[in-house]
Amino acid sequence: MKKEYPNPVQASRGQKALQPNHFHLAGKVVYFVFWQFFFGELVPVIYCPKCGKVDKVTSDGWTGVSEKIRRVCSANALAFLFSKVFRCGKGRKKGEGCPANDGKPYQFRSHDEGVLEQLRRQCPAVLDQLPIVFTRGGAIERSLLDTMVRNVASSTSIADQQKMVREAHMRTFTQQKVTYIQYAAARAKLRQQESGAHLYPGRAQQPPPPPSDFGEYADKEGYRGWIPSTSWIAGVILASLNSRLAFLERHLAAVDGVFWRGDHTFQAASRIRSADGRKDYTAIYSIMNEWSQIVGQWAVGDTSFDEYATGVQDVLKRYDALGYQLPKYMWVDNSQTVAAQLYDAIPSLSRVLEDATHVMRRVFEIIPDGHSLKADFCRDYSSAIFQIHQQDKWALREFLLAGGPGRRKWTQAEGGR
Ligand SMILES: [Zn+2]
Repeated sequence: MKKEYPNPVQASRGQKALQPNHFHLAGKVVYFVFWQFFFGELVPVIYCPKCGKVDKVTSDGWTGVSEKIRRVCSANALAFLFSKVFRCGKGRKKGEGCPANDGKPYQFRSHDEGVLEQLRRQCPAVLDQLPIVFTRGGAIERSLLDTMVRNVASSTSIADQQKMVREAHMRTFTQQKVTYIQYAAARAKLRQQESGAHLYPGRAQQPPPPPSDFGEYADKEGYRGWIPSTSWIAGVILASLNSRLAFLERHLAAVDGVFWRGDHTFQAASRIRSADGRKDYTAIYSIMNEWSQIVGQWAVGDTSFDEYATGVQDVLKRYDALGYQLPKYMWVDNSQTVAAQLYDAIPSLSRVLEDATHVMRRVFEIIPDGHSLKADFCRDYSSAIFQIHQQDKWALREFLLAGGPGRRKWTQAEGGR
């Protein structure tokens, strides 16, 4: 369904005049949307989205012919949707049109929401494997959308993402404009040679006509350049995140466990920002089970229990609905402040325990760094809490020195610790 226009030199070959249009077309991509043609067996019939019937549906040309062509937001060049148009019913007499449209004919396009909805029902794989994702009023390249979602996760602002697209598009535009100018100059030179200017230098030569202007980026008659607005980008990213969230929610619902561990992380929360770059949350609170799977996770405004109390109730309701065994033990980062509230909220808990690393950290923080015995004390205190299995420790050391789970090998110095 994807067509790339040939390069401009090919496009203008055999033409009498050099048309900027050849260069305007170059590098542009058109996505044809015609389900029955490309996926005949998977999508044999498209029903009228208005009345749900098929008997009066007929072909009615293509988008972009009679109306505004729809854009596809692409990473580095212009792209368009070219959609098959249909019509339910024809004629002007009453009853000849679509029964659900007051008997008037109803026109619809292949990328209309009502048609996409049919595809999602009949064969969702068709939409999932396309190189583009349909949005309100157009589409976006799937790879670009994935990049944008990834960028949001690493706190790139929407405005920055828009700049990224703009720079890439401007580069494509400039490249084509420069190629056009060079090509026009080369043609003018060739024409002079062919007219015998070198053989008869004295003879008056007719100067070649100046090449027509390539125009500017946004020229409606020319390049027709376009940059997506920040609000459009934000809307598309949000819609994509919401569709991913549905999957995560289904996945989360299947997780159980009786040993819970609740902890705040502050780093991830700093990456959640509103459109104007403001931080919206202080922390992420996660509850994990004995297999380190996430049972529940919430963005919170502060570290108080109230911020995730409703969330815990939701998890318990889910446990109850699915017949899971309720949690018995829970490790937390500060049992003194939340233990009573947790016992109250989760009646099945028999113990709220202090996470050992947090206990240690709290003790270590009290001792001034300058204290001569701090290092010795910390080491002894740690070995009093953790019983380290020497064979495991050496196996882990070997693993890390050999490359470990990440990209970077450990050095001998790090392995010595
Ligand atoms: Zn109809």
